[in-house]
Amino acid sequence: RIVVENVEKRFGDPRKRELTALKNINFTIAEQEFVVLVGPSGCGKSTLLNIVGGLLSPSDGEVYFDGLQGDKVPRIGIVFQEIALFPWRSVYENVVFGLQELGASKEELQEKGRHYIEMVGLTGFESAYPKQLSGGMRQRAGIARALSVEPDLLLMDEPFSALDAQTRTIMQEELLAIWNRTKLSTLYVTHNIPEAVYLADRVIVMSRHPGQIKSIIRIDLPKAGRNQEEYRMEFDR
Ligand code: ATP
Ligand code: MG
Repeated sequence: RIVVENVEKRFGDPRKRELTALKNINFTIAEQEFVVLVGPSGCGKSTLLNIVGGLLSPSDGEVYFDGLQGDKVPRIGIVFQEIALFPWRSVYENVVFGLQELGASKEELQEKGRHYIEMVGLTGFESAYPKQLSGGMRQRAGIARALSVEPDLLLMDEPFSALDAQTRTIMQEELLAIWNRTKLSTLYVTHNIPEAVYLADRVIVMSRHPGQIKSIIRIDLPKAGRNQEEYRMEFDR
């Protein structure tokens, strides 16, 4: 379980003008839960995702992993909107990059590389370079790279928003199929409400608020997109 507690983020110089990007952010991501974060542009979604991923530190509050064995360092896989593949590395080299950094053996690299490349449907493209791939294929490679380290948490920041509508729909379906195989705790950011409802177990809506205070509205959709008959809304200001 990932706990986000009283997170606040201020940008800028406290003696001059500060921007409060996030304030009073509280939520959890349960084991095997797919949480989608939606909200208007500039409301702080990416900032929050980067804080959860440890790429940014909060000005206040904390993010912690509850229930990890001992003092194990949590592994986090991240997929960005603008593909962050290394252009000078092949698909295979990109996918196993994180594993390599973790010191995996050559056999492990090959086995996991093959497994995750197959999972995202890129078998046969192992030696292709990012510029030889379509946008959708590059995002597939990005997903395989994030999955290959077998993370405790998967973070995705508008991974499909640069894709055309048709590719996007295909990618959403495939992501759900992949997620059903891996059941990773996931935090997914999108602007797109139908996408959120399709993918999420739970949707968190971040809204703009006077005084820059953001509220979180939780809409609990038990296996949303898969079963939308029942849902519950909970407002916590
Ligand atoms: P979008 O949907 O457009 O991606 P977002 O919800 O992801 O928007 P953020 O990128 O998290 O929004 O930005 C939240 C606020 O924090 C914005 O006002 C932005 O200008 C500001 N901000 C983000 N990063 C920085 C930074 N490094 N320095 C200063 N201000 C920042
Ligand atoms: Mg953003």
